[in-house]
Amino acid sequence: MYPETTKCVCGRDAKLEYDFVIEKYMGKTITIQNVPSYACESFHTKYARKTRLRIKELSREAFDCGLREIEYKD
Ligand SMILES: [Zn+2]
Repeated sequence: MYPETTKCVCGRDAKLEYDFVIEKYMGKTITIQNVPSYACESFHTKYARKTRLRIKELSREAFDCGLREIEYKD
């Protein structure tokens, strides 16, 4: 589960939102949709550690299936 807010590196509150992430995998661009991310008022974006790991796994999954786009799932 993701908390609604978290502290940003700048000290502001960062809110949970769902955004897309563009990843490069083996020279291919893969778009991952609906990635849980945190954004503060200063437009810093951060991801939970497990989210970053999933982004890598999903890029590989999409690549293996020949997809350019994949839906985020935990
Ligand atoms: Zn910030």
